[in-house]
Amino acid sequence: MTKLNTTNKEQSYDVIIVGGGMVGATLACALGNSSLKIAVIEAYQSNFDWQEGSHDIRVSAITHASQHIFENLGVWDGMQHDGVAAYDKMHVWDATGQGQIHFDSTEVGQADLGHIIENRVIQKAVQTRLADFDNIDLLMPLQLQSMQLNGQNVELTATDGLRLNAQLIVGADGANSWVRKQSGISLSSWSYHQNAVVCNVTTSDSHQNACWQQFMPEGPLAFLPLADGQSSIVWSTTEEKAQWLLNMDEHDFSQELQVTFGSSLGRIQLSSERGSFPLRLRHANHYVQERLALIGDAAHTVHPLAGQGVNLGLLDAVVLAEELLNAGENKRSVGAMSVLRRYERRRKGDNIAMLAAMDGFKRLFSNDFTPLKVLRNSGLNIADTLSPLKNLMIKRAMGLFGSGLSEKLPRLAQPDLSHKQN
Ligand SMILES: Cc1cc2nc3c(=O)[nH]c(=O)nc-3n(C[C@H](O)[C@H](O)[C@H](O)COP(=O)(O)OP(=O)(O)OC[C@H]3O[C@@H](n4cnc5c(N)ncnc54)[C@H](O)[C@@H]3O)c2cc1C
Repeated sequence: MTKLNTTNKEQSYDVIIVGGGMVGATLACALGNSSLKIAVIEAYQSNFDWQEGSHDIRVSAITHASQHIFENLGVWDGMQHDGVAAYDKMHVWDATGQGQIHFDSTEVGQADLGHIIENRVIQKAVQTRLADFDNIDLLMPLQLQSMQLNGQNVELTATDGLRLNAQLIVGADGANSWVRKQSGISLSSWSYHQNAVVCNVTTSDSHQNACWQQFMPEGPLAFLPLADGQSSIVWSTTEEKAQWLLNMDEHDFSQELQVTFGSSLGRIQLSSERGSFPLRLRHANHYVQERLALIGDAAHTVHPLAGQGVNLGLLDAVVLAEELLNAGENKRSVGAMSVLRRYERRRKGDNIAMLAAMDGFKRLFSNDFTPLKVLRNSGLNIADTLSPLKNLMIKRAMGLFGSGLSEKLPRLAQPDLSHKQN
């Protein structure tokens, strides 16, 4: 998929995006057909030649805002073709008490609350779209070796000897971002002391196109509906228990899941391999530096309990794209601090608000202190009966508006197809 003739050992760009994952490739699509010359550097070769019936056990709950971004960038149809699952209900309850809350898309006049999509489906759609843009080179696989920032530009060398330079480098290279480490930007971070065990299961009763989430002191357990009727499991639990769950044979794992979740979906059976992801909150103390910007997981990671991580990253991508395109139109350098600070100002408050909310939720439900248990259970039940509060919660989770700390949603995240690129 590499479009570049690498016999030329030196290449110049306006913007180099390191990381061709969901967020990095989306930023590139948002800069497609512009006057900016873009390189996307991805360390690993993608393989979209899937076996019939296979699954990616990593999935994402995608908000309406993210769906609009994908629609406006012309990649939503490709995702629909490969399989997206709309969900229109969400059931949330506290396993240690009587507290519960239920959300239904009809309460806010929408057909659905969002979609569950395999990560490989998203990545395939956005990476494939890059080939449509003459101003974008996708360099894959390419391993970077060094990065030098100076007042004028950024210079990179790759392990194969290729040298690249640009006005701006964007780190979209995930939670352990190489770009962030090279930049020296510091990170606020702590472990949740939980791992998320992920896998797929079949259930004898239908998932009813609903997300089911049960909160337990050691972490939440979610069943997310998939297009083929199976469910994706995200089971956040202590590091020790996660290891125990991974070591069990398939039958014992299914049994343990059944006992923990109960019979709401009938008989549960493991139908895939299992994976495990350590959970950490991370927040880069700065998103930008002269000639450098961080987006997506390179800038922040959040507990997956409300499925917001990639949704925040996609908003970073389209806000940064807006600012870079504005700079281009106004003949300003895309690497200038004045341009990059605008991106940071527009995204930081929103991201911090979401990180803090998810962190608070995680702590609230991890706590076994009886008065707090009573409070959270009655809080859930009260919220369930208060329509305005509930509507606000649903709309925020659907990404229908920003956190309230920042402005309205960026243009590409709005349902206005006039921005669609061809
Ligand atoms: C269990 C779990 C469940 C989740 N569920 C949800 C959910 O339901 N909804 C949601 O919104 N979010 C969810 N998330 C979060 C979501 O997965 C992340 O926020 C998202 O993957 C971040 O995308 P990204 O493109 O920023 O980073 P990544 O997905 O990590 O992609 C980074 C890319 O950069 C490449 N790369 C890395 N280093 C280099 C380098 N040095 N050079 C070149 N390329 C490099 C990688 O190969 C990769 O392709 C979940 C996370 C976990 C752990």
